[in-house]
Amino acid sequence: MIQLYIPLNFLGVIYREIKQALTDMDRMFSLLDTDKEVADIPNAKPLQIANHGRGPDVRFEHVSFHYDQKREILRDVSFNIPAGTITAVVGRSGAGKSTLARLLFRFYDVQSGQILIDGQNIIQVTQTSLRKAIGIVPQDTVLFNDTIGYNIAYGNPNASIEEIHEAARAAQIDGFIKRLPDGYDTQVGERGLKLSGGEKQRVAIARTLLKKPAMLIFDEATSALDSKTERAFQEELLGLAKNRTTLIIAHRLSTIIHADQILVMERGQIVERGTHAELLTANSHYTEMWQMQERAILD
Ligand code: ATP
Repeated sequence: MIQLYIPLNFLGVIYREIKQALTDMDRMFSLLDTDKEVADIPNAKPLQIANHGRGPDVRFEHVSFHYDQKREILRDVSFNIPAGTITAVVGRSGAGKSTLARLLFRFYDVQSGQILIDGQNIIQVTQTSLRKAIGIVPQDTVLFNDTIGYNIAYGNPNASIEEIHEAARAAQIDGFIKRLPDGYDTQVGERGLKLSGGEKQRVAIARTLLKKPAMLIFDEATSALDSKTERAFQEELLGLAKNRTTLIIAHRLSTIIHADQILVMERGQIVERGTHAELLTANSHYTEMWQMQERAILD
């Protein structure tokens, strides 16, 4: 009994940490399948996406949410991500940005309001179909002690070698891999080659591309990038978002200039929304955030 208890408890700890970090969470769900907070309703139907080649329409309608009854985290949040477009969420640390992503992935159920994907309330569809439709590029990617090819294919165990190479090319990491002595068979992780933060994120992008999700959640890393890497990264992001509905949790404002819509969050509410040009007006929170970020770069 004790023997059984300890590993399960340990898995529970890992699971909670992963849930918090938005890290490779879809895979962990299938491994653990122990979520007690959300459950499929009887006769839940698979999520139907009208046009997979464009991505679905996503809608948050009057969503309120708390982790703990004493503190409301989201208050009456409503927004729409039209099919095939990019919405970026910005705001101070703790404003509730990642919580939006956790709710969309249905780590937790909303306490009031609803989240609709192509008109279907996500609490009425199967969790498996919902999570299959969403790809997540996390802030920090977990690499397994295996080959780099395995690490890319991890999103899709049935992927062919050609598909793995194609995803790596699209994520702009194919050239790097080919220059390694053992190419795609190079061991990475704790006991192998250590990858930089940028290289790891490219592995995550390739993984997500292999999954071919209709929706994408991009949890941008907080770490600063040099301007050349940042430009390359913006291009990758736009490539990845093409033909799918995308939510970016943004920490660097420069990466989201091209978003179709930017939501500015403050203490669980959307206080401003619009494009970059629309939001850059006198006295906006957004303008203030830009000025702060520019000052931080100059310091
Ligand atoms: P950051 O930019 O720092 O990642 P964020 O805007 O993404 O912040 P969230 O992670 O959505 O913020 O968190 C919003 C609030 O909810 C924070 O005050 C946080 O402490 C709280 N919170 C997050 N996860 C939990 C949890 N599992 N249980 C209780 N409170 C939580």
